[in-house]
Amino acid sequence: MNSSGSSLYAERMTTFADDTTDLASSELIALDERWSTHNYHPLPVVITQAEGAWVTDVEGERYLDFLSGYSALNFGHRHPALVAAATEQLGRVTLTSRAFHHDQLGLFCRELAELTGTELVLPMNSGAEAVESAIKVARKWAYRVKGIPDGTAQIVVAAGNFHGRTTTIVSFSTDEVARADYGPFTPGFVVVPYGDAEALAAAITDRTAAVLVEPVQGEAGVVVPPDGYLTEVRRLCDEAGALFIADEIQSGLARTGTVLALDHERVRADLYTLGKALGGGIVPVSAVVGRADVLGILRPGEHGSTFGGNPLACAVGRAVVRLLATGEFQQRSTALGARLHARLSELLGNGLTEVRGRGLWAGIDIDPGGLTGRSAAEKLLSHGVLCKETHGHTLRLAPPLVISESDLERGLDAIATVVGAR
Ligand SMILES: *Cc1c(COP(=O)(O)O)cnc(C)c1O
Repeated sequence: MNSSGSSLYAERMTTFADDTTDLASSELIALDERWSTHNYHPLPVVITQAEGAWVTDVEGERYLDFLSGYSALNFGHRHPALVAAATEQLGRVTLTSRAFHHDQLGLFCRELAELTGTELVLPMNSGAEAVESAIKVARKWAYRVKGIPDGTAQIVVAAGNFHGRTTTIVSFSTDEVARADYGPFTPGFVVVPYGDAEALAAAITDRTAAVLVEPVQGEAGVVVPPDGYLTEVRRLCDEAGALFIADEIQSGLARTGTVLALDHERVRADLYTLGKALGGGIVPVSAVVGRADVLGILRPGEHGSTFGGNPLACAVGRAVVRLLATGEFQQRSTALGARLHARLSELLGNGLTEVRGRGLWAGIDIDPGGLTGRSAAEKLLSHGVLCKETHGHTLRLAPPLVISESDLERGLDAIATVVGAR
């Protein structure tokens, strides 16, 4: 490389700080604010280390993590089995591109398909990419198999959805903040109210390729649909010959007490999108899993990703599947979730107006006469508990599934103190 070029870079660098460890939280926050875009509004805590359900900030304060990276950390921070699998793979090979085979991909795909009771796996990286991939596959299937006229396929989605941040996905978001100024939008989506089977039935036409819903709406505030709704979605899709795509990126992989949240209604989707916890909190790993006659329509060159299905991602994903195959985390979610919901329901009419959720996952609405979600999250931070508001007066609670019973009680004590109107 050109030496004057490299010295130019060196001169331009004001900090090549290996002294960052000496910076205080306030200085590190100031750096974030100066140098990173402002598309987030984090709580004022700077994490430098974490283990299990606990994180430590740069001043040495410890906090209980009641957010778990929006369920990307279902197995807690640095689960030993996941760190071991990643470390072992780091010592062998991390990336090949899909131009060549490697020894982890087929095993990962087989194991994930067996765990989820599906037939074929399309590995990607982020959740949004998995959703984009499912949309592309559903459209192609609609034209090539169902026989919908080219360019006219529709996908029915639910109001309040959250499926990611790409241009196509925000095209059918009902959250104006997530959508404003990003048009022109991708056409071909029809929005119906969530949990309303009649509205869904009315929206389905012979141009419907698929229905895309979250079995539990996470970002919307952990909204569980009425009993029987998901069974109705399945029945309406069968009747119309449309695909049922379940976005289980947040609800799946033991968060609600089952591998898939759809399992609660013993319903099967045609395609599932998975992500978040699939990467074990270590690397981004996502996938579309489902029917071979649907995912099988993809041919070389028609879809892909440089990093999708890389050896490190597959090795970590395999370790995640192995943890889920024990059933331990599903059981923990069910047992600890019962405790979570019992204690939260004691706060109903006593600081909370509503508690929703399933397993170790809850959306709580704070009495509007009291704190906003943001101020409650800030107060909880000062009580040693990390969580995040979603909309206005709603907090989302998703402790890691490895949390001990006593740590769960400790976090709930803090919540009762902060939101409880006593
Ligand atoms: C988080 C999430 C996504 C998007 O995942 P990213 O990895 O952030 O792109 C999609 N769908 C659901 C249900 C999610 O919770």
